[in-house]
Amino acid sequence: MANVKQKLLFRNKDVSTVNSSDGTFRSLEKVGRPNRQTEKVNGLKDRTQDLRKSLNDSLEGDIRDFLINEAELHTYDDLTKVNPVTPSTVLKCLQARYSAKVFYTHAGCTLVALNPFQPIPHLYSLDVMREYHSAPQPQEFKPHIFIVAEEAYRNVQGQVEPINQSLVVSGESGAGKTWTSRCLMKYYATVAASSQKCQDTVQKIERRVLGSNPVMEAFGNACTLRNSNSSRFGKYIQLQLNGSQLLVGASVQTYLLEKTRVAFQAPNERNFHIFYQMMKGATEKQRLEWMLPLEQDFAWLPHAEKTLEEDCLEETVEAMINLGIDEGKRTQIFRILAGLLQLGNVDFSPVSEEAQPCDLDVHSKGFLQKTADLLQVSLDELHSCLTVRTLRAGKQSVLKPCSQSECGIRRDCLAKVIYAQLFDWLVTFINSSMFADNSMWCNFIGLLDVYGFECFHLNNLEQLCINYANEKLQQHFVAHYLKAQQEEYVTEGLQWSFILYQDNQGCLDLIEGSPSSIFSLLNEECRLNRASDAKQFRVRLQKDLSDNASISWDKLGKEPHFTVAHYAGKVSYQIEGMMEKNKDPVPPEIISLLQKSQDSLLHSLFADGDRESEGSRGHSKVVTVVSKFKNSLGSLMKILHSTTPHYTRCIKPNPDCRPLTFKKEEVIAQLEACGIVETINISAAGFPIRIPYGSFLQRYGLIANTRLTAQMNRANSPEMSDQAVLGSAVEDVLNVVLKRRAPNYTLSPDDNNNMV
Ligand code: ATP
Ligand code: MG
Repeated sequence: MANVKQKLLFRNKDVSTVNSSDGTFRSLEKVGRPNRQTEKVNGLKDRTQDLRKSLNDSLEGDIRDFLINEAELHTYDDLTKVNPVTPSTVLKCLQARYSAKVFYTHAGCTLVALNPFQPIPHLYSLDVMREYHSAPQPQEFKPHIFIVAEEAYRNVQGQVEPINQSLVVSGESGAGKTWTSRCLMKYYATVAASSQKCQDTVQKIERRVLGSNPVMEAFGNACTLRNSNSSRFGKYIQLQLNGSQLLVGASVQTYLLEKTRVAFQAPNERNFHIFYQMMKGATEKQRLEWMLPLEQDFAWLPHAEKTLEEDCLEETVEAMINLGIDEGKRTQIFRILAGLLQLGNVDFSPVSEEAQPCDLDVHSKGFLQKTADLLQVSLDELHSCLTVRTLRAGKQSVLKPCSQSECGIRRDCLAKVIYAQLFDWLVTFINSSMFADNSMWCNFIGLLDVYGFECFHLNNLEQLCINYANEKLQQHFVAHYLKAQQEEYVTEGLQWSFILYQDNQGCLDLIEGSPSSIFSLLNEECRLNRASDAKQFRVRLQKDLSDNASISWDKLGKEPHFTVAHYAGKVSYQIEGMMEKNKDPVPPEIISLLQKSQDSLLHSLFADGDRESEGSRGHSKVVTVVSKFKNSLGSLMKILHSTTPHYTRCIKPNPDCRPLTFKKEEVIAQLEACGIVETINISAAGFPIRIPYGSFLQRYGLIANTRLTAQMNRANSPEMSDQAVLGSAVEDVLNVVLKRRAPNYTLSPDDNNNMV
């Protein structure tokens, strides 16, 4: 929690402040200790109440102005100034700003970013970056993501010791999280390197840090119904700064890549960008090498006719070069990917006799041959690992042909496991290329870009994990800003009416708690290693979790499912397939096939056997998807808790990604989902601005210069601490200001005596 000592706190609409003995300006109702300072405070109380009344009268005028003067709405840079704060006034204000092409608005401690869905000239130019960076008080500039960036950058230095920072960017799919993260990375790559002397190293690091984006997006983003460049993985990147606040390295951590997309794309969605980039950007020579003739259709490459700006192989290759991925490695990567495309065209035909493996038609045989060539594995072994299963009973093993659908599952599994391992390899490579030795850096700024809350017609384990991650982030936000801020006021004795906010602990207990939760029951089911039965599992959930108010059951639904009341809304999850997805089994035959690949990269992806196959798992050591995800998220939360967070809420103004189109219903749903109104209320009623006495006097001391000087001169007075002197001086300045704002109020002649 921020240290509030020796700081001046301002409420946005409350003028009842007075300094107290610990050097902090506070509400007059503070319950102070009965000492000299407190008496002084009490002496001021009555008069300040008059002052407050008089000022509140004038504020009421402001409120009336707000309510009637809609032409001015777009000028409200901070939503805490909107009065009254209701979903509809906040919405009106944002809409007015959006129409006026103003896309950023403060909401107290958070920044709201509305997606313009079109490039805004100059908004992110180098000149603008420099302007915000060099401003003595960037907060006084128009709201911008660069204010958040700069604040974090300045905070890193800390007043006493350096403090790591985290910038958390949230919002639904297409809201602009990745765009914002990219902007932030460019900002730091610019301002944290601008004064660098050893340009070579820094430029190399900048290039690598920025180069990590196109590579990770090519392999981890895809065109979905909601966003043509949707991130299908979560990302936390730490930008490492040295003692002079220069960028010297970075590290990236990724979360839960949606690997199923390699082998399955929902209607009207596409595979990962990289496949389209290869199809469209290959040279003739590469086309031959990758066996990708232009006229060939690929089952796993739907909507290849659609052209997106993301389909640019050149940019990805350039970024790979900047990261240090040499030509040999690039060739291997593209061959492996081409192999996956060929594999997708392999279809299995049913056979009449059960004891026979599935047949392949002539086309599929050709595609399987190409797959084997590109992956550099034996064709026979590839064929048999897709169509025959080895059953082990003690030391005996029996071969059993797979059914047609099992063959399809094995084919998809092969593609998914290769793609996921390749993605992890890339992340590891990127990390090694941006690595800075621990001795070189002392602080970091972390940027978090995770997929937003998801609610589809059908939701399964992927959505449960994604929404769970969003619950964790919301809890962090609630704990950090809403709960902590209110608790701080109580600790400091400020009179405070509690503002209710939605605490999502119940929902988190339901998902991840112990002893019984959805995750624990899912894991138990996987440990039992029996055939999964969705209906039975639902009965188990109902029996063990019915006490939790966040889960409900729609008895009318045909398929077994359960509904979770998330902070952002209710989501129904189908149970069918959930347990299998949690086990994420990989047939041992597939692992051993890949371990024998002649391609050194593919071989290395599986060589150390850290990817457990289903046959190698003992019952006690099943590492399930949810336990892995819970652990990695747990580590992320620990990091976030150890840093000072800055929240940016990206809002998608319309579902069709149309430029400058504002759909009220869409926006209000998102504002509600992230609790923006509660945030504004707490920020507005609380003390969003905390200025150390010294800084305040430096800036505003001139207003009451004579008193300030007199008091400064008496700073050695034995009965007054320095803080009290400074506090009194601050009080003087404020009184002058109050007097100007409330001319009806007459100061009493002995004010001076009372206040010193
Ligand atoms: P997802 O969760 O699906 O990954 P996201 O929140 O990361 O979504 P982005 O990919 O960042 O969404 O943004 C979607 C699109 O919106 C971008 O491709 C870009 O076209 C546009 N966009 C976002 N922010 C801005 C901006 N500040 N200015 C101009 N266009 C923007
Ligand atoms: Mg994204």
